[in-house]
Amino acid sequence: MTQTLTPCPHFIGGEWLTPTGATSPVFNPSTGDVIAECPIGGAAEVNAAVEAAQAAFPAWRETPAVERARVFFKYRQLVEQNFDAICRTVTREHGKTYAEARGSAFRGLENIEYACGVPSLLFGDTLENLARGVDCETLLQPLGVTVGITPFNFPAMVPLWMFPLALACGNTFVLKPSEKVPLTAVLLAQLLEQAGCPKGVFNLVHGGRECVDTLLTHPKVRAVSFVGSTPIAKYIYETGTRHGKRVQANGGAKNYIVIMPDADIPKTVEALSTAAFGCAGERCMAGSTAVTVGKAAERLLPSLVEAAKVIKVGRTDQPAPASQPDMGPVITAQHRDRVMNLVASGEKEGAKVIADGRSARVSDAPRGFYLGATIVDGVEANMTLAREEVFGPVLNVMRMDDLDSAIATANASAFGNGAAIFTNSGAAAREFKHRVKAGMVGINVGVPATMAMFPFTGWDDSFYGDLHIQGREAVQFYTQQKVITTRWFGGDVGDVWKK
Ligand code: NAD
Repeated sequence: MTQTLTPCPHFIGGEWLTPTGATSPVFNPSTGDVIAECPIGGAAEVNAAVEAAQAAFPAWRETPAVERARVFFKYRQLVEQNFDAICRTVTREHGKTYAEARGSAFRGLENIEYACGVPSLLFGDTLENLARGVDCETLLQPLGVTVGITPFNFPAMVPLWMFPLALACGNTFVLKPSEKVPLTAVLLAQLLEQAGCPKGVFNLVHGGRECVDTLLTHPKVRAVSFVGSTPIAKYIYETGTRHGKRVQANGGAKNYIVIMPDADIPKTVEALSTAAFGCAGERCMAGSTAVTVGKAAERLLPSLVEAAKVIKVGRTDQPAPASQPDMGPVITAQHRDRVMNLVASGEKEGAKVIADGRSARVSDAPRGFYLGATIVDGVEANMTLAREEVFGPVLNVMRMDDLDSAIATANASAFGNGAAIFTNSGAAAREFKHRVKAGMVGINVGVPATMAMFPFTGWDDSFYGDLHIQGREAVQFYTQQKVITTRWFGGDVGDVWKK
């Protein structure tokens, strides 16, 4: 049966444009069906979008912060009213469960709420009488045209990490979403238009490498926010900074969860299953490696394997949330095969698969991209499975004798996004949080991803740049400081009023 494809237009200078050139298929991962064709824009579309954003900048910059904030109060209301449609679009093009789509879109909504507070976020500092009769103040001013380039795994949340705050700070914006999940971005753009965002202030261009390269080298682009895999994050950072842009580039991850022998096992099993298998493991904060210390392995693994085996995999594109499975598909057939090959490489190098989801099938969706929850025990640091980001529902288990070795194992990773410890010992937790090499740390929290008011603080190969996404660091990223030093001549102020 041929399906009607969902339209996927660009949004440039306030116009919705459906080009006729090259496209890339957008799948419903639950069924394997093509649901849309994403236009692959090039230099022409990017140049038009940047020109539109540049033209809109002077008026938007002059719009008082309280008025800009009002657009986001309205946007917040519209996003909330259309929350179900947003979450259904996320599940349809990405494959997350409806509950996961809601959870992540809610994180996005909180970023809109944070942006609504922009008048207070843009306060500067003042120092009266810096020297005799001289005062000093700082202003935070917008940069101009800013850009967001986003990954497939959070179609609503990651774009919302970027454009509400960038715009509220007085910049204009060009969003280039992942060509695998462009439809949620179209919906978010439609709602922003309805919220009264002026023409050209926000632009949406679809595409791949050519689009990205044009954005990175365009002389009118001032700053680039990127979220995606590590090799591309590094490329974006190097190319963007070489062309004089501010860049914040979040990369991939490998997050270690240390389980001490005294951990609360039922609660740890629950948290670890969610951390490893939630969103089918396709999140940069996935707890992808469990590091058991001493006897923790014997206490933990039997119930963890049982928990993995009962995770129900199925389609997430069904209308009734009640019929939702525990876990949806991964993004594409190629990605599923890559994950399976990585697990096979672990087996070949001596690790043991103790829960095997590789044969998962969904009877009413035989062409969907499914994998079940998988646990691989006896993983060693030198194995490919230990070094590469898997980005699927696969949990590695590494066994260590003591906390020192567990921390050393986590710290040997090239990445530095998240890390967590499960323990009842304050001393162990304190030692861990002090010494672990990761930007976001959980203590009895499996996914310590930060919320809108805190920066998303990846380290090492999980982040390239200086100022992180979200929170006050993001306000600094999207503004430039001006310091004003003032002196007035003539001491006889009273005369002015007499005249
Ligand atoms: P990706 O790097 O393949 O793509 C990200 C973006 O870059 C997309 O918009 C894509 O079109 C573009 N892109 C891809 N190849 C490019 C190239 N050669 N040149 C220029 N642009 C290119 O990432 P993905 O597969 O969409 O997303 C998954 C990755 O994102 C994982 O590694 C995950 O850990 C990471 N991620 C990181 C965070 C974080 O905050 N650290 C959050 C979410 C996802």
